Amino acid sequence: MPYGFNFDLSKLPQRFFQDTLKQAANIIDRTDGSKKIEGAVADLMKKFRVNELTGLNTGDTLTILRHLVDINVKNLLDKDRFFETKINERVVFLPHCSRKYMDRRCNAYFDKKIPSYVCNACSDDCLINQATKLARKYGYDVHILSGGSCIPHILEKKRKYKAVFGVACTFELDFGAKYLKDKNIPGQGLPLINNGCAGTEFNLESYEKILSRDS
Ligand code: SF4
Repeated sequence: MPYGFNFDLSKLPQRFFQDTLKQAANIIDRTDGSKKIEGAVADLMKKFRVNELTGLNTGDTLTILRHLVDINVKNLLDKDRFFETKINERVVFLPHCSRKYMDRRCNAYFDKKIPSYVCNACSDDCLINQATKLARKYGYDVHILSGGSCIPHILEKKRKYKAVFGVACTFELDFGAKYLKDKNIPGQGLPLINNGCAGTEFNLESYEKILSRDS
C-alpha cells in the first residue's frame, strides 16, 4: 500500500544513502533474516537523526528505512545479472511525477502505444530531463511512466529489454520488483526521497551511481 503519511528525505546527507547501501551489504553477508534489517534500521535512524531532520515519528521513520534497506538488498542481489546484459538491452523507467511541470507547460509527448512519455527537454532544471540525458549518455533506453502498471505493457512490446532500472516510490518499486522476479528479469531500483503525486524527487548522484555501476 502507498504510505498513509508524507515524507521528505531531502535534508538527509548523501552519506545517509551511502550508509543505507552499506547496511544492505552487511545484511547479505550475514545469515539471520529480518533481525538484521531491524538492527540496520535502528543504526541508521540514530546515526543520522532521521526523525529530527524529517519530522517523521518513529513508526513512520522505521517504515521508510526498512523499505530503503530492503530495496538496496534487492539491488545488490540482482546487480551482477543486471550488468551481465548488453547495454542496449537495459531500460530506465522514470516517474512522471518528477517532471518540473505536470500541466501543459511540460512539452513531453505521450505515446499511447507504448505507453510512456518522451521528454522534449523544455527545461534544463527539470529532474526528468537531467535523468533522461544521463541515462542516454550511458546508453540506456528511457521511458517516463505514469505508474507501475505500464511496466508489463512496455516489456511485452519491447521484448529486447532484459534488465530494468526503475525510479519510483517504494510502493511502485515493490510492484515492479515482484513483476520482474516472476519474469526472471534482473532489476535495479532507486526510491523517491519524497512522496506525492507531483513534485517528487530522487537523488541524481545515487541515480548515476546505479547507471554506471558505481553503487
Ligand atoms: S524537461 Fe521534459 S519532462 Fe521536464 S517539463 Fe520539459 S518536457 Fe516535461
